[in-house]
Amino acid sequence: MTIDLPPNLPSRGAAVRGTVYLVGAGPGDPELLTLRALRIIGDADILVYDQLVSDAILALVNPAAERIYAGKQRGNHAVPQADLNQLLVQLARTNKRVVRLKGGDPYTFGRGGEEVETLRENGVPFEVVPGVTAAAGVAAYAGIPLTHRNYAQACVFVTGHLKDGSMNLDWPGLARRRQTVIIYMGLHGLAYLCDQLIAHGLPADWPAAIVQQGTTPNQRTVTGTLTTLPALAESAGLKAPTLIIVGEVVRLRDKLAWFEKNRS
Ligand code: SAH
Repeated sequence: MTIDLPPNLPSRGAAVRGTVYLVGAGPGDPELLTLRALRIIGDADILVYDQLVSDAILALVNPAAERIYAGKQRGNHAVPQADLNQLLVQLARTNKRVVRLKGGDPYTFGRGGEEVETLRENGVPFEVVPGVTAAAGVAAYAGIPLTHRNYAQACVFVTGHLKDGSMNLDWPGLARRRQTVIIYMGLHGLAYLCDQLIAHGLPADWPAAIVQQGTTPNQRTVTGTLTTLPALAESAGLKAPTLIIVGEVVRLRDKLAWFEKNRS
């Protein structure tokens, strides 16, 4: 696909052969792609993408591009990360325009750093195109500002991925007032997470929300408190990908929700 950018818009031009482009696809809504991402995926010879990249975005990729699925599901990496890093090196050496397309932003819980380290070690030219990370996209579409002068002056992003059934997080640092905590990959550990935040000092009725497939037509949001959210999420049957938002900003959703309302 070619896109005609306005002539007064500075551009670094088309994709270059032999280069690997690490591109953020954003949280799902294709309208949230950057112009740079749109241009680069339209120029791709080879696309290496993962599970989080939505079909609506895959539809914007050069139809002639070879597609390699590097899907990652919880505990089941379709392609081991080390192999994937090497694969990118090998593909670049075939002198193709290689696009590594990742959900959200490549440098936010995306292992983008590991992939680029390997490219650098092997002398492969690369470019990183940032994307709208799930926290930013989901917060906007769920009507929950990440910060707000009255409620939260700080915002922390953490991974809630369970390792051996627990999460090794800085609980005292997370269980603070006047901050928002965003948990990626936290659905399976939701009950544990809520318990720990209460145990480390947050009130049992502290607001919390969980958003499934934010920014897509399947977006669903469940709000509650640290005490009620796990059961509410379970009875709603929420499925990954979900993002958890903990903090008083969640209260603003009653006033600020728009996406789900406009859709219905
Ligand atoms: N690099 C990505 C994050 C990859 S980790 C980014 O910047 O967004 C994968 C996790 O991101 C998922 O388990 C989920 O917690 C979150 N996520 C990604 N897209 C999401 C979406 N559309 N809605 C809700 N959560 C999402």
